[in-house]
Amino acid sequence: MVTLHNLGFPRIGAQRELKFGLESYWKGQSTRDELKLLGQRLRHQHWQQQNQLDWLPVGDFSFYDQVLDMSLTLGHIPNRFRDFNGDALDQYFRIARGRSALDAEQQARCVEGVAAGEMTKWFDTNYHYIVPEFKADTSFELDASRLLTELEESKKLGIRGKPVIIGPVSYLYLGKSKDGSDKLQLLPRLIEVYAALLHELAKAGAQWVQIDEPILVTDINNPWRHALEQTYHNFKACPIKILLTTYFGALQENAWLAANLPVAGLHVDGIAGRDEILSLIGLMPEFKILSLGVINGRNIWATDLNATLNWLKPIAKRLGNRLWLAPNCSLIHVPVDLSLETNLDSEIQHWLAFATQKLNELHILGTALNYGSETAADALEKNRLAIVSRRESRRVTRHETQSAINTLCTTMGQRQSNYAQRNKVQQKQLNLPLFPTTTIGSFPQTPEIRKTRQLWKSGQLKHNAYTAAMQSEIKRCIDAQKKLDLDVLVHGEAERNDMVEYFGEQLEGYAFSQLGWVQSYGSRCVKPPILFGDIHRPKAMTVDWACYAQSLTNKPVKGMLTGPVTMLNWSFVRDDQARSLTCKQLALAIRAEVLDLEKAGIQIIQIDEPALREGLPLRQSQQSAYLQWAVEAFRLSANGVQDATQIHTHMCYSEFNDIMPAIAELDADVITIETSRSDMELLEAFDHFNYPNEIGPGIYDIHSPNIPAKCRMVELMIKAARRIPANRLWVNPDCGLKTRQWDEVIPALQAMVTAAQELRGLEYDAATV
Ligand code: GLN
Ligand code: ZN
Repeated sequence: MVTLHNLGFPRIGAQRELKFGLESYWKGQSTRDELKLLGQRLRHQHWQQQNQLDWLPVGDFSFYDQVLDMSLTLGHIPNRFRDFNGDALDQYFRIARGRSALDAEQQARCVEGVAAGEMTKWFDTNYHYIVPEFKADTSFELDASRLLTELEESKKLGIRGKPVIIGPVSYLYLGKSKDGSDKLQLLPRLIEVYAALLHELAKAGAQWVQIDEPILVTDINNPWRHALEQTYHNFKACPIKILLTTYFGALQENAWLAANLPVAGLHVDGIAGRDEILSLIGLMPEFKILSLGVINGRNIWATDLNATLNWLKPIAKRLGNRLWLAPNCSLIHVPVDLSLETNLDSEIQHWLAFATQKLNELHILGTALNYGSETAADALEKNRLAIVSRRESRRVTRHETQSAINTLCTTMGQRQSNYAQRNKVQQKQLNLPLFPTTTIGSFPQTPEIRKTRQLWKSGQLKHNAYTAAMQSEIKRCIDAQKKLDLDVLVHGEAERNDMVEYFGEQLEGYAFSQLGWVQSYGSRCVKPPILFGDIHRPKAMTVDWACYAQSLTNKPVKGMLTGPVTMLNWSFVRDDQARSLTCKQLALAIRAEVLDLEKAGIQIIQIDEPALREGLPLRQSQQSAYLQWAVEAFRLSANGVQDATQIHTHMCYSEFNDIMPAIAELDADVITIETSRSDMELLEAFDHFNYPNEIGPGIYDIHSPNIPAKCRMVELMIKAARRIPANRLWVNPDCGLKTRQWDEVIPALQAMVTAAQELRGLEYDAATV
C-alpha cells in the first residue's frame, strides 16, 4: 500500500481570510484574540480539505512566515526586538514588519517602530521569508508552544498529524551572519534545541516529523554537507521518525548523502528530479521510506495521471509499503481551490488544478495504485480527456506570433549608441539635477481606487466614468509629486491591480482566475495570470494613461511597464514549450509598447524586472543559460528606442550581487534597486564589479509603515557614493508605494527629497569620501 501525505497547505484561505484578518488587526479594527481564533478556524478548515490523505501537515500554518515561526520556536530573536514586553504575537509582527497593531504597541509602550527583519525570496519562488540574523554569540532557547498547540488541535479533530519544521542546516544556511562570523559555529547549539524539540513532539504523540532541508537540491559545499551528516547523526537518538524533505529540484551530487542520512524516510521532488529516482532507490537502505513528490506544487496544470501512473506502477511494486506519495513541494505556491472559479473559460478550466484539486489527483493515484486502475477508471478517463483537450486545442497556437519569432534578428536587442554617448543626449534633453529623485511607480492603492476598479470590472461603472476616475487619481498623484518637488514623476499606477495581471489582461494567450491568490509575503498575495498560449498584443496598453499624466506637468513622466522576464516568472506558465521561447514572445509584445510610448513623446520608460533573479536556476550549472536568454529578452523589449529615450529598470528583494554582470548587460540607462533593509549590503557588489550605468539604491523601506529619517537616508546615500560616482546616483524608495497610505508616503518622500537636496550640497564630499 502506498501512503499519501502533504507537505504544506496554503494558509491564506480560499478567500484570503487570513490577509483580511491580519490587516484588520494591524489597523486596530479587530482584536488579537479574534485573529488567533481566525488562525485556528483556518487550520481546521484546511485539515478538513486534506482529510483523504494518510498524514496531514501540522505547523505549516503561519501568521506571517514559516521561517520566522521557526526563529521563534528556536527562541531566536534579534536583540533590537528583545525589550518588547507585550504579547508574543505582537513581538512576532514587530520582527516581520517593524511594528504590530498600534494599540498593542502603545500598551507595551513601544510606539517608535523598529527596523523589520530583512526579507528575501524563498529559493526560486516568489514567496519571501524573514531572514534569520546570526552573530557569533547567538543563543537559542526552545519554545515549542506553537507546534504543540497545533498538534493538540489536530489530535482533538482525530487527524493524523505530521509536524513540519525547517531543518537546522537549511535554517542556518538561509540566515545571514551579521558580524561576519562563521554561521556553522552555531550548529552544535542549534542541534541541541532541535533535539529537544523532537523529544517534545514525540512526547506529545507525533510519530513522524517532516524536516525540510531544501538546500539539498542546491550546490552546497563540503562543510555544509558535513553539517547535514553531523546533524542527522545527532538526531538518531530522538524517539521520532524523521521524513527528511527536499524540494525545488533534483538532488544530483547530493543524492548519495540524502539517501544515506540516518533518518526513517526521504521525500524528493519526483518532477524536477524524475530522472534520478531509479538510481536513488538503488542508493537507499532497504528499510527507508521513499516519498515521491509527483504532483506539481509549482504550477496549476492538471497532472497527466495516466502517464504518472504508468511511471509509478513498477516503482510501487518494487517499494511496496515503502512508497509514499505527495505533491513535490508545499502547496503554498498555488491557489487554494479551482472549484470556486466561476468566470474561467470552461475549456481552460479543465486543464487546471489548484491545491484542493492537486490533493484529489494524489488521491486518485493512491486509489489506482492500491486498489487497481479500474477502481479509479472514471476519474482517470476524465483526466485523459482534459489532457488531450489541452494538447489539441487551437487556442494555444497563433501563427502571427510564431512567424514574428522566426524572423527576429540580433540587432533588435542593441541600443544605437553606448551608454556614455546616450547619456549626453539624455542629459541635454532631461536636464536633471545631481541625485535626481524619483519613485518606483505605484502610489497608494486606496480603497476608493479598488472600489472603482471593481465596479468597472463588474460592469456597474461605465467606461467613461472609470477613465475619468482614474484620471483624477493620476492628477492627484502628479500634483502631490509636483508639490514634493520630485524630479522624475510617475502616473501612480492607479489603474493596475497587479503589475503582471494588468498586462496579461490586455494580451492574448492569457487567462485569469478570480480567486487564484498565492501568498507573496505576510498578508500580501499575488494572483498570477495563467499563460496558456502564444502571446499577442492587439493594441497599446499604457500609452493613454502615460500621455495624460505627461500632459499635467513639464517634468518628465516615466512610462511604466513590466518586463518580459517578470511577466514570465510571475505567471503560471505553459509547460508545453521552453520558457525561453515564451519569454521571447512576451518581449516582442513589450517592445511594441515601448516603441508606442516613445512615439507618443514619453522620454523615460521604466521596464520593471523584479523577478529576474527569481527565475535563476538553483544550480550554478544551469544559471548562465537562463541569464543569457533572460537578458536577451529584456534587451529585445527595451533596446529598440532612440538614444534620447532613457530606459530604466527596477529590481527588488533578491540577492543581486552574484548576477551583477547580467544586470549590467541589460544595458538599461538607470536601474533602481532595493537595498534599504539590508543596509546597502548590495553595494558590496560594486567593490568587485564596476557597474557602468546609473543606479538608484533604495533608501526608503516601503514594506514598513515607519517614516524613514532624513539623516539616515543621507547616510545611506553617502555610503553608496563611496562606491559609485555621485553623478550616476539616483535617490528613490526601495519599491512601489502601493501598499502604503498617503499619510505615510508624503512625509517619507518629503524627507527623501530633502535628503537629496542636502546631498547636492555635499556633492564634492560625497563623491570623494
Ligand atoms: N512599478 C511597480 C510598482 O511600483 C514595481 C513593483 C515591484 O517591483 N514589485 O508598484
Ligand atoms: Zn520592487
